[in-house]
Amino acid sequence: MRRVLALVRRVGTDRREESPHTYSRASAPTRARCECVLSAVESVGGVDARALLFSSGLGAIHGAMSAIAAGRRLLVSGGYHGTHEVIAALNASRPLFEVAPLPEPSEVEPGDVAWLETPKNPTGALSDVEAYASRGADVVVDATLAPPPLQYALARGARLVVHSATKSLAGHSDVVAGVVAARADDDILGVIERHRNGAGAVPGSLETWLLLRSLRTLELRVDRQSSSAAELAAWLGTARGVVRVHHAAGSPLADRQMPRGLGGTFAIELETEEMARSLPGKLALLKDATSLGGAESLAEWRRRYDDAVSPRLVRISVGLEDPDDLIHDFKQALDALTRKKY
Ligand SMILES: *Cc1c(COP(=O)(O)O)cnc(C)c1O
Repeated sequence: MRRVLALVRRVGTDRREESPHTYSRASAPTRARCECVLSAVESVGGVDARALLFSSGLGAIHGAMSAIAAGRRLLVSGGYHGTHEVIAALNASRPLFEVAPLPEPSEVEPGDVAWLETPKNPTGALSDVEAYASRGADVVVDATLAPPPLQYALARGARLVVHSATKSLAGHSDVVAGVVAARADDDILGVIERHRNGAGAVPGSLETWLLLRSLRTLELRVDRQSSSAAELAAWLGTARGVVRVHHAAGSPLADRQMPRGLGGTFAIELETEEMARSLPGKLALLKDATSLGGAESLAEWRRRYDDAVSPRLVRISVGLEDPDDLIHDFKQALDALTRKKY
């Protein structure tokens, strides 16, 4: 027994003086490797990026926001409801920063922090990253709905990009993690890393390993989700019972900022709230569940989680199934819903 324990302790572990890792909250081998990969993934268009992993997307938003917004004016409108919970938490005991609605780029002042969630959850509305960056604001992009290779916000002038890696980056609905990336020479990364260490907001090694494994198929998954979502959105635009499709296809900004595709998440509005509440339960292939970016397609009545969105809105996250099967599923569900009425 003694001998085995001695072997386990000695064999296969780095010798103390060679390993840069001393305590796993500060740094760990799997995390360091995954961060190297994510840094390389975000290094596009002449940008030398560095990425930091967090325990969740909201953990990443908390780290990024507290580092960049303290003492400044944070401009933000709508988007993911959790982002507003982070703002409330940070400003709870005494205001750390002022918060104002995001105006048009021309009204942004140098020194402001423009928080752009683009595309926006759940409507897929786009904000022009270059236009805000050109006003001298510090732009932060929550790029959860536009993972690489669809959008590279740092190359368009953003100072920080954050991702909920829980969604497309990990892509299999089995991991909670987040990412913050910036140019490698930006001092703010040191502030964010200290915040992460102080908050203890690091992902576990198993989650990190799953994320690292998933990144191997990121491009395949994201391209397929984008093209299937575009096909399904176009079909839904002609479907009975659907009064509006929120999908930015064909807009000049979409063509310029996201020429490769708009991702797998979009939304539709039904004729009535009752139809929107019922539709997810009538779908057979798509699951009635929240989250997005996974291999399985999901649909949800978004109002359940976010009281800022229309009660007639259903958010759809397109996975990796055959798009014809998804269209067929919506057809039978909408037929069942509209049969009641007509
Ligand atoms: C899900 C999501 C988040 C939060 O990420 P978690 O990993 O769930 O903490 C942040 N922003 C957007 C746009 C999201 O969709």
